[in-house]
Amino acid sequence: MRLLSIKECDLHDKKVFIRCDFNVPMDEFGNITDDRRIRSALSSIKYCLDQECAIILGSHFGRPKAGVFSEEDSLAPVVRRLQQLLKMDVKLAKDVVGEDAQKMARELKSGEILVLENLRFEKGETKNTPEFSAALASLADVYINDAFGVSHRAHASVEGITRHFDREHKAAGFLLLKEIEFFDILLENPARPFAAIVGGSKVSGKLEALVNLLPRVDKVLIGGGMAFTFLKSMGYDVGKSLVEDDLIDEATKIMEEAKRLGVKFYLPVDVVAADAFSADANSHTVSAQEIPTDWMGLDIGFASVELYREVLEDVKTILWNGPMGVYEMERFAKGSNKIAHFLADSHATTVVGGGDTADLVQRIGLDEEMTFISTGGGASLELLEGKVLPGVKPLFK
Ligand code: AMP
Repeated sequence: MRLLSIKECDLHDKKVFIRCDFNVPMDEFGNITDDRRIRSALSSIKYCLDQECAIILGSHFGRPKAGVFSEEDSLAPVVRRLQQLLKMDVKLAKDVVGEDAQKMARELKSGEILVLENLRFEKGETKNTPEFSAALASLADVYINDAFGVSHRAHASVEGITRHFDREHKAAGFLLLKEIEFFDILLENPARPFAAIVGGSKVSGKLEALVNLLPRVDKVLIGGGMAFTFLKSMGYDVGKSLVEDDLIDEATKIMEEAKRLGVKFYLPVDVVAADAFSADANSHTVSAQEIPTDWMGLDIGFASVELYREVLEDVKTILWNGPMGVYEMERFAKGSNKIAHFLADSHATTVVGGGDTADLVQRIGLDEEMTFISTGGGASLELLEGKVLPGVKPLFK
């Protein structure tokens, strides 16, 4: 099975709806602080312009109260940015599927671009109502999904809408194709040895991904808060570090399974411990087996960084999902930053899961050095869990 590609659709002179992910970060003055998501959509948009079709773009932005228009959640800043990037006029409808959007979509000519207002202004979007899906679908002849970041949500603009288009009239855009292709290679046919670096706050958030990854990888390197549930399961005192007591047995089982499968499983050997969860707490590096009772581990230590560097030296594929420590605080970001640098310098194929990990790599300016950075946190995690995304399933050939 493979995804229907935008290239297989006859787009000439058609009205083409592209579901994009323009959910960009904005400061209090409405300035876009990172336009990566808008730029990621440009290849599909430009391709459609070349095919001489009328382009209708839809996206959600933030979490507005459904059913009402609010200025601060309007896509107007996104439209301004699109105009700068594309160097052409981009129209913005006053509503999503209301009178204005319908009239503008009807009158839209080939070579023109119309952006609908924030899809989440409509209650039917997240509720995936048949009425809203039908109304959205009625605006266009062809449906393209290029919003990887929301494809794990069964929302109207990614799931319900697909029921209104046959196979010749729906497909994945270039961004979605690239995301799915990378994760497919990673999970089905990676160059070996293949190492997964898994971090982040909790075991519970990554449990299914770990279980799915184990039979596919050669090495697992654990970091972040989740390391402490594993360390505790081995009988070590982890002080006040983040621990999920109800998952201690599960952690033991994962390590046993890794052993059974011949997968090397690494835990931090030292950690940066602090006396409070605070940027100005007292902190020092201690052995991962002897964290003082009232202290908590907030980053991996230098010896762990060295160990992980050695472990990563001979691998050909590296997947990284989840920071090694509380990277939002400068002094607990060193472990994550060092790992990011190893990946940047590595000759291996390096794939960074979305969300926090992508954010930290971008913060230190190493994003261009990675083979691939996913644009979706939740969506990429669900792929790692082995799930088929509801927004992607209807686009399989
Ligand atoms: P996740 O969403 O599960 O990938 O977790 C990301 C979050 O994990 C980030 O906000 C980090 O600050 C947090 N984190 C990483 N290491 C630790 C730790 N040792 N203790 C508490 N939180 C952590």
